[in-house]
Amino acid sequence: MLLKCPKCAVKNYLDPYPFWNYTGKTKCAGCDTVYAIESDGGHLVGEARPVPGKPTDPDVLLPGFADTPDFQPVVGEGKTRPAPRARADVYGKPKPITRNVRGRLVSGRPLKAEELIGSRARFIVEGKES
Ligand SMILES: [Zn+2]
Repeated sequence: MLLKCPKCAVKNYLDPYPFWNYTGKTKCAGCDTVYAIESDGGHLVGEARPVPGKPTDPDVLLPGFADTPDFQPVVGEGKTRPAPRARADVYGKPKPITRNVRGRLVSGRPLKAEELIGSRARFIVEGKES
């Protein structure tokens, strides 16, 4: 869903997951104008209309991405929202990667003795990786 700001012509990309069935406020990343929008099934219902309100209000859902008419991304704190994660508590951790003798990546390596508890790997017993 695209919200093109009539004031500054910045294209605000309202990503489908949070804006699928949404009634509330969003803001233009370019000029901070707050808009009231309603969407149903990923489509805008009616027009987005400017409403009074501060862009920092907690009920204003930021667009996922925005760019100018000449395709320059609008970035910065409070301009767009970070991408949603499947699990907010998992930031990802590099897995132990080794290379074979030809220099190609191998997806795993033999466990060392200190990584084992009894007959089970330590990361399984403790519920975490090294
Ligand atoms: Zn604008």
